[in-house]
Amino acid sequence: MSVKVNFVGSGDAFGTGGRFNTCILVDGADIRFTIDFGASSLVALNAQGIAHNSIDAILLTHIHADHSAGIPFLLIDAMLGAKRDRPLTIAGPKNLEARLAEAREVLFPGSDVMAPTFPVTYVELPVGETTEVLGLKVTPYATKHTWQTDPTVLRVEVDDKIVTYTGDGDWTPDMAKATKDADLFIAECYFFEKPVKWHLNYPTILEHKEEFGAKRMILTHMGPEMLAMADQVPEETAHDGLVVEL
Ligand SMILES: [Zn+2]
Ligand SMILES: [Zn+2]
Repeated sequence: MSVKVNFVGSGDAFGTGGRFNTCILVDGADIRFTIDFGASSLVALNAQGIAHNSIDAILLTHIHADHSAGIPFLLIDAMLGAKRDRPLTIAGPKNLEARLAEAREVLFPGSDVMAPTFPVTYVELPVGETTEVLGLKVTPYATKHTWQTDPTVLRVEVDDKIVTYTGDGDWTPDMAKATKDADLFIAECYFFEKPVKWHLNYPTILEHKEEFGAKRMILTHMGPEMLAMADQVPEETAHDGLVVEL
């Protein structure tokens, strides 16, 4: 069976082009998970008619709102509206549970009195090590982004396929370890020409294209300048709802 990847949310942090925040839905033989779950992810899933109760796990690249702030919405809807009973696993950087609890309390004050009636498991992913998460093999590599977010590139082995997503962050040699032989390399591509700190931009991607060593690359998380060029560059670019099979 093939692995299916759906770019439910392919936008940057600020909704450029009307696109949703990052939410990459992956279907393996026995698991449905997302890589990142940005603030708008429930809206994005609903727009595609995908029930968030069908998601077994969420893997987070880093704790920025456009990559993780959909989780408080998901948890609260799972308790109040969607009546979830399926277990949920959330994996990501250190102190994950406490940081997401803080975010939930900021976004929905008083919600700490509600406790999920379904099992929620938090898994911290040590950088540079492979952790097994519901049969997935997940390896985070450190990247160059706002350090307070504990930013990582995630390499995920699902069935016999490898999917790597940069999250947000500028090139480091570790990135090539994460992308080597990947069946799909999803690369942040924030700006087309303008150098922007702590992000991966188009000139940097071209500069390191050979080093990535991935079988297929798709660009995502495009800001206004890059999005305007999305149809003109030879590389594949994502849009919300793009589905690829590996
Ligand atoms: Zn971002
Ligand atoms: Zn970020």
